[in-house]
Amino acid sequence: MGILWFGGNIYTMQSEGDAAEAVYTENDIIQAVGTYQKLYHDYYQRIDEEINLLGKTMLPGLIDSHMHIIRHGLKLLRLDLSKMQSANEVKEALKNRTANLAPGEWLIGEGWNENQWENKTIIHKSELDEISPDNPMMLTRICRHAVLANSRAIKLAGINEQTQNPQGGIIVRDDQGETTGYFLDTAQDIIKEAMPQVSQQYLEQVIKIAVDDLLSKGLVGGHTEDLYYFGGFDKTYGAFKNAIGPANKFKAHLLVHHEVMADMIRENLGYGDGTAYVELGAIKIFADGALGGRTAWLTTDYADDPGNKGVAIHEKGELEEIVKVARSHQLPVAVHVIGDRAIEEVAAILKQHPLTTSARDRIIHGQILNERALDMLKELPVIVDIQPSFVTSDFPWAITRLGKNKLSLAYAWKTMLENGIHCAGGSDAPIEEVSPLRGIQAAVLRKSAYDGKIYMPYEHLSIYEAVQLYTQGSAYAINQETTRGMIAEHYKADFIILSEDIFNTDPDRIEQIPVFMTVVDGEVVYQNKAE
Ligand SMILES: [Zn+2]
Repeated sequence: MGILWFGGNIYTMQSEGDAAEAVYTENDIIQAVGTYQKLYHDYYQRIDEEINLLGKTMLPGLIDSHMHIIRHGLKLLRLDLSKMQSANEVKEALKNRTANLAPGEWLIGEGWNENQWENKTIIHKSELDEISPDNPMMLTRICRHAVLANSRAIKLAGINEQTQNPQGGIIVRDDQGETTGYFLDTAQDIIKEAMPQVSQQYLEQVIKIAVDDLLSKGLVGGHTEDLYYFGGFDKTYGAFKNAIGPANKFKAHLLVHHEVMADMIRENLGYGDGTAYVELGAIKIFADGALGGRTAWLTTDYADDPGNKGVAIHEKGELEEIVKVARSHQLPVAVHVIGDRAIEEVAAILKQHPLTTSARDRIIHGQILNERALDMLKELPVIVDIQPSFVTSDFPWAITRLGKNKLSLAYAWKTMLENGIHCAGGSDAPIEEVSPLRGIQAAVLRKSAYDGKIYMPYEHLSIYEAVQLYTQGSAYAINQETTRGMIAEHYKADFIILSEDIFNTDPDRIEQIPVFMTVVDGEVVYQNKAE
């Protein structure tokens, strides 16, 4: 009937340092937490398995508060450009890949990042045409806010000299007005729409591959945004429900892109609906772009691009209209905002249109604040979904974009927590690696992956605070803080077991701690055989 877990450091996360000797679970629920002796005495007739943790460390299962599961799976399947150190290395990889393509088949690459290249010049479409004039090519930048395309793809997308920039996007052109192959923000969609659609079966396979990887990283669940991009609501939601369930346990909370909100409503579905493993969440809206392509919407000019303050994805009034539609169906929203101007804009709209239910609105990223934006956030019952590993990937180049003066409230996680703002931790995978341990280490150390320097050390979190982001933080964001995110009576039996004690280790090592086991609803769904 039940399992008695014992023999390790069991951190309950009910308060800092709080630990127990043993946990007794039945099916998906924690029945009791206490000493081995007491639990054995109370439950010995119902215990049918004892699991000895062998001195390892048990924590509540970690939950990634912002990711894109399908894109993560595609990254595992597609050509990964994210580790490459030069444009030549990227081109070499593309050349090798084209050799195996059928005529007309698309070459999709993921995650190039010119900030990692010695020469930071972005590849021109003519260089891609040289590699493959006949196979259409689309290469997504690490930030997902820009793509590179070759001439074949541009032609299939129907883009020519007359094509205007779409609202919220830029088709980059040279002095002669010729496209360079670089497409920013909503301009990416023109290329993507020219791609053949994937089947639901394929999506199911991609989700399963992604989930297996997530479980191995210690994640028992994730809040994911996918429903708009791969052939629409019904197909994608259907794929999630088929791929994840009692036989493939993982807790997926799906944000609903506003473009498919009407499809969800048509199906008579709303916030929190779904299965025990796949449920629907807040309405996802983009307010601005991203820092890498200088499209995050700022109150001031980019330090390295005078006259440019970034991009508002929606025309004035449009974003408010979307929020109003969501409110008319009692739906919370989750808004992508990176720049301080965008945060002010969104905070004002949320204040104007408060939720009338107990659900929670979310600000995704909330990376660059100013005093006024911080004050506005403080006043709102809003969650901020932060991605601690951005600090390791964005510095030092973020300083070039923002200028030193704008850094005082950038990536300001400690300040947000101290101001009583609820934060949840995530990766935005596949933008960042999916590992929650990597995120925890980044929140604690704030060390750049490029130069090894520490950026804004006054914003660093304690290990406990950082683990909280991925446990109670992510649970709170979706109103599940009374059933998930802690090891306590009547909570869900979701755990991870780490091979080392995360609270008593050199913070520089956190990312390398092996995940020994992942447990969802009392079932061991991942076990590291090497440990
Ligand atoms: Zn995202």
